[in-house]
Amino acid sequence: VRYPTGSLFGRLRGEVREVTVLDGVSLTLDQGETLGLVGESGSGKTTLGRAIGGMTPMAAGSITLAGISATGRQDVFWREMRRQVGFMFQDPMAALDPRMRLAASITEPLAVNGIGRTERRRRAGDLLAEVGLSPDFAERFPHQISGGQARRVTVARALSLRPRLVIADEPTAGLDLSVQGELLNLLNAIQAASSVSFLFITHNLAVARHVTDRVAVMYLGRIVESARTADIFARPGHPYTRALLSAHGAPGATPRLTGEIPSLKRRPQGCEFHTRCPLATDRCRSEPPAEHLIGPQHQVRCHFPLAPAGKASPQVPPAH
Ligand code: SF4
Repeated sequence: VRYPTGSLFGRLRGEVREVTVLDGVSLTLDQGETLGLVGESGSGKTTLGRAIGGMTPMAAGSITLAGISATGRQDVFWREMRRQVGFMFQDPMAALDPRMRLAASITEPLAVNGIGRTERRRRAGDLLAEVGLSPDFAERFPHQISGGQARRVTVARALSLRPRLVIADEPTAGLDLSVQGELLNLLNAIQAASSVSFLFITHNLAVARHVTDRVAVMYLGRIVESARTADIFARPGHPYTRALLSAHGAPGATPRLTGEIPSLKRRPQGCEFHTRCPLATDRCRSEPPAEHLIGPQHQVRCHFPLAPAGKASPQVPPAH
């Protein structure tokens, strides 16, 4: 994915440059699976979610959904995509039209797909019940509900077309712990009942650990590590993953992250994490690392993928 960039005056003069935001990202999701996308702010998580949903145009790449490819007939693909992919946006209040009653907001995707008013009313009641809200919420406006209730409304809206996949962008952000727990339990229950898949975008590793089957770790628009959730937390292979875990207080992790994530306009040469990596060598500063398989379904993009806990690795570089 590339974005136009440059100063406002430069852009007005037609001097538009492009910056690569996502590069070489590849993800697969099975039916009924929850994949967590984790990383710091600016790592590209939200951009990736938006690219999958067609809200950010891709300069190159492909998406295949249930056998239909975005590289085939675009109109067929995106029509199907809108039916098969539901979204939960970061800010639920911003996603709800303040002038629309909740029933109308929840069933708006149904209206777009030509479902009649009587059926929409019925479905609104069913969807509210599914997310644990009473029927009287149908007639309320967004300013009459709490943040936790707004999240539930966005879940109902995301599920309205019975999608195969829901992309949830920081669904627990801003919620207190008890409301977070209720929402995560609700999403688990919905998945158990419907086999919907979730792409769960979060910077909260505790949440990712609780709800995901697999985790992909993003840094500067690339996936640097992906594995089953239990393996990521028990045997993180990438120094960045270890540092993220350290920031969340995981025992045995490497020192906390220092420094800022670099600008996309000035990506470091070689391994893009080398400016912050405690293990960086001269090779890291000049040669981009390839992806290594260090366990079943466990990929790490590093010259020196770290050995599982307790085992020495011949690839670990000497300490500096
Ligand atoms: Fe660190 Fe080098 Fe691995 Fe990059 S390739 S994460 S700089 S050890």
